[in-house]
Amino acid sequence: MTIWCLGSVNADHFYRLPHLPAPGETLAASDYSRGLGGKGANMAVAAARGGAPVELVGAVGPDGLWMKARLADYGVSVRHLAESAEASGHAIISVDAAGENQITIYGGANRALEPARIDTAFAEAREGDIFVCQNETNLQRAGADIARSRGLRVVYAAAPFEVEAVRKMLDVADLLVLNAVEARQLQEATGLAPEALPVAGIVITLGADGVRWIDTKTGQSRDFPAVAVTAVDTTGAGDTFTGYLLAGLDRGLSMEAAIPLAAKAAALKVTRRGTADAIPSLSEVETWAPPAHG
Ligand code: ATP
Repeated sequence: MTIWCLGSVNADHFYRLPHLPAPGETLAASDYSRGLGGKGANMAVAAARGGAPVELVGAVGPDGLWMKARLADYGVSVRHLAESAEASGHAIISVDAAGENQITIYGGANRALEPARIDTAFAEAREGDIFVCQNETNLQRAGADIARSRGLRVVYAAAPFEVEAVRKMLDVADLLVLNAVEARQLQEATGLAPEALPVAGIVITLGADGVRWIDTKTGQSRDFPAVAVTAVDTTGAGDTFTGYLLAGLDRGLSMEAAIPLAAKAAALKVTRRGTADAIPSLSEVETWAPPAHG
């Protein structure tokens, strides 16, 4: 079965600066690096590295062909990653000497997806496939509706949290994936506790405190511990977790088996610097023996 990821692809540009710039100030960066990011790309890479066939549906601009090539190197199918006239989505990440950061994000091609391309892509989806989207593109609801009509399971990662975007997705999602902050924001916005939301399942990631899975059909909730590690960079931990969770479900694992494996993959990721480029492969995750002391 295939995981269909409707999602964003971002170039992350990192600049090291002596301090964060004041209005009107021009500063020379002492270091620059570029990485592959965006929640869609991260989840697609994680699901592919986790062993699943993955189709990424989205767009990059003329400046984003290196990202398309890198996604393909990681095993993601980019047949439905359009080349748009818009600039690619990107993030300008400035980090000062104390580690404080300032981030500017431009959605670009991610926010200019065309309905006709979504229709063409999902015409290939089959019953039993999995659809996943997040909030960094346009057309999430349209994509989810097509996926539902074709018999796919709809998974929605409600991030970055935007109340109107989330409200639009609640009645079409089978599984909702949130972090603790997003879960609180959703409860404040809807007035409903997670277990009262109209979705079949909810996974709440709790950082170093692990994962809570709520089966809203039975009303049961189950907690899973995180794997104790010394965190170096937690960026992309949630996306790694979600991609690995879906890869596990795709090959028939139960939630009880897929969640600990996804938590192990995310823990290994947080020991490494970077986002999509730092996501481990399934064999690395399976053979990794986490440090006993964390
Ligand atoms: P991000 O936005 O940084 O990608 P997130 O806020 O969406 O992450 P988290 O809840 O922080 O998601 O992390 C997702 C999962 O990754 C956690 O449930 C846990 O399994 C694992 N994880 C995150 N941080 C740590 C950590 N410090 N130690 C071990 N595991 C971690």
